[in-house]
Amino acid sequence: MDDLSRSRTAPRVSDSAAAMFAITPRPAAILLDALGTLVALEPPVPRLRAELARRFGLEVTEEQAARAIMAEIAYYRAHLDDGRDEAALAALRRRCAEVLRSALPGDCVRLEPERLLEALLASLRFSAFPDVRPALEAARERGQRLVVVSNWDVSLLGVLRDLGLEPLLDAIVTSAAFGERKPSPAIFAHALALAGVPAGEAIHVGDSLDEDVAGARAAGIEPILIHRGDGPAVPGVRTISSLAELTAPKV
Ligand SMILES: [Mg+2]
Repeated sequence: MDDLSRSRTAPRVSDSAAAMFAITPRPAAILLDALGTLVALEPPVPRLRAELARRFGLEVTEEQAARAIMAEIAYYRAHLDDGRDEAALAALRRRCAEVLRSALPGDCVRLEPERLLEALLASLRFSAFPDVRPALEAARERGQRLVVVSNWDVSLLGVLRDLGLEPLLDAIVTSAAFGERKPSPAIFAHALALAGVPAGEAIHVGDSLDEDVAGARAAGIEPILIHRGDGPAVPGVRTISSLAELTAPKV
């Protein structure tokens, strides 16, 4: 299967060094959701307004830009698995730009699709949460395998590479490349196989009850819910607010 998975031999640390750290039992692999867990989408509305103004001299209100970007994001979420390779991703993105154009005010209809797509892509920027790099580095120090499992198109590899996170990961599994999306247990089983770890020795960290918690459980993997900011406690689900809690030294 053509996917974005890569394998690498993770360094092992001594048991005495590992015993200094918190998780018991220490999972051999940590599976990680991407959006909301590792990375955030920077606010796209001000970026879209700025791109439309800069590239086309078009002024749209915040409300108009928000409506258009929400329509685009909704379309993308429903169709992201179409982006299974570069050519299919390019076609998906053209359709996304068309959705954006249709949702923008009337005078945007004249915009050239390819140029509008460039403006759209420039409006969609991701950043890594500040706790991510230290937590991934600490996990690697401990010899834990790290595999991203994400409902995303094949461009996720480039996003994680641009953010400098890709070298810290053992594999990156996208739903688009794999052919099934979370909460399907199959995509988790694929990630476990890449990690070389049985379900009972892995955890999966994610911010979605439906995709991450339910999916991991269906695959026999302990789910960890990450609530960045406020969120209601969920009975029976181990919840953290930062990835630092996975690798913090024992007090
Ligand atoms: Mg997520």
